[in-house]
Amino acid sequence: MTITKEFIPLLTGIDLSTRQLPLLIADSGKAGPTVWITAAIHGDEVTGTAIIQSLFSRFKKKALIAGKVYAVPILNPSGFERISRREAFTDADLNRHFNGRAFGSTPERIAAGILSAVLATKPDYVIDIHTDSINSIPYTLVDVPKTLKNRKTLEKSVTIAQTLGFPWALDTEKSAGYPPEQCFTGRLQTEGVPAITIEIGWPCVIVDDYRRMGVNAIWEVFEALGMVEGEKKLISTIPTDVNTFTERLATQSTGIIAYEVKPGDAVKEGQVLGRVRNVFGEQIEVLPSPVDGRIFSHEDQSVTFPGLALFTLVVSSDFEKVLLNVRDKMA
Ligand SMILES: [Zn+2]
Repeated sequence: MTITKEFIPLLTGIDLSTRQLPLLIADSGKAGPTVWITAAIHGDEVTGTAIIQSLFSRFKKKALIAGKVYAVPILNPSGFERISRREAFTDADLNRHFNGRAFGSTPERIAAGILSAVLATKPDYVIDIHTDSINSIPYTLVDVPKTLKNRKTLEKSVTIAQTLGFPWALDTEKSAGYPPEQCFTGRLQTEGVPAITIEIGWPCVIVDDYRRMGVNAIWEVFEALGMVEGEKKLISTIPTDVNTFTERLATQSTGIIAYEVKPGDAVKEGQVLGRVRNVFGEQIEVLPSPVDGRIFSHEDQSVTFPGLALFTLVVSSDFEKVLLNVRDKMA
């Protein structure tokens, strides 16, 4: 097995330096799956960077026995350097600029560069690591883009989500509030590449417990794919009932919110999730849960404004019903 370091060039900086993406490649030298692990497309979501570093140091002790792993520890270095979600050149959210265009806007060009580098290797799976708020449980998100062409792609993504072992949910345009194909993993699915997003850890700072959890979960995927020694098997059955994200729950008022639920809590329809008080301490709004579901995360802030989405809530749904809006376009 070999481990190599390479760079994917993106653009030239004002100081004439090449702005580039660091790429780690572990090659077993044998046939097998090609898997990409990427992190920090949102520059302040740093946990994935440490997860990738730890996975590659584990390869030095427990070699890859089949296939190849490509990893980009930081997809957005300019955002990472200033601890910002956005890239520094135009302050754009890179993860809303896929498919990308080679001669489009700056973020579109960067997105196109990332996508073409990944697709050129004909990957079997892509795992993109993100971070939700401090007040979150680790979870996996599977995009369901309307442009999905092949049902098998989605089923393979679900298989990886289940193998990782974190709670997971399907995300559609309705729940995300934007077309999932505008983000990296959604676009990959449209291109026929199974791809999932892990949300783990805190923003801005690496928390070691989450790093370890992420490494172990991804290692189990390597085991299940036969890429490293181990017992883990792929979970290839698709459950009838799956979690889907609800639309984000927002407040209607400006005030100070007290959260009454914790991430991971199961909630009943009508249960109070939070209460908003005005500056005088008077209650001005109560936020009930619209459904029976589970809280995956809530925001890390106490101030709220009208329309600010505060909770990530999932509800159990029928898998086939979720696919209804894409099914007529699929193979
Ligand atoms: Zn993110």
